[in-house]
Amino acid sequence: MSSLQEILNFNESFVKFKQYEPFITSKFPDKKIVILTCMDTRLVELLPKAMNMRNGDVKIVKSAGAQVSHPFGAVMRSILVAVYELKADEVYVIGHYDCGMSAIEPEQMIGKMVERGVNKDIINIVNYTGIDLVEWLRGFGDVSTSVLKSVDIIRNHPLMPTGVPVHGLVMDPGTGKLDLLSNGNENIK
Ligand SMILES: [Zn+2]
Repeated sequence: MSSLQEILNFNESFVKFKQYEPFITSKFPDKKIVILTCMDTRLVELLPKAMNMRNGDVKIVKSAGAQVSHPFGAVMRSILVAVYELKADEVYVIGHYDCGMSAIEPEQMIGKMVERGVNKDIINIVNYTGIDLVEWLRGFGDVSTSVLKSVDIIRNHPLMPTGVPVHGLVMDPGTGKLDLLSNGNENIK
């Protein structure tokens, strides 16, 4: 059953009783930080709480696996917008242990697409138009390697200004404990 109506009903009363008031802030991050992290459900509230972040403190960009999969994709664009337009001057890439993206089997996922009605011919057409579907869907084996790869892409991006530290960390999705992989202050351009 769709959750849409339930959400709309809740939303109506949320607004009516001004429950938004504790969250009023501006679009500029008070702590001048942009975080790239994973869409994992366990991090929704845990990550901001474990880092002492409140509404208004930080820009959060989310992608499956906290990956920058393309240097000119939407994730990298969001980080650049945060830096140039929204006054963020520090970037945190935060992956997490037990990430779903480390277990993705692209071939199996394509199999599920076919099971759910995507025509096999369509899959072939996508592949013949030069898109390597398996590579596109592929996750990563080791979260630390993946975080460091994303850090490297952001740090060395030709459109990133100098003087913006890019940190790489991994969070425990149970306890919120952060492990530091790369301190951007020591690798600043
Ligand atoms: Zn994840």
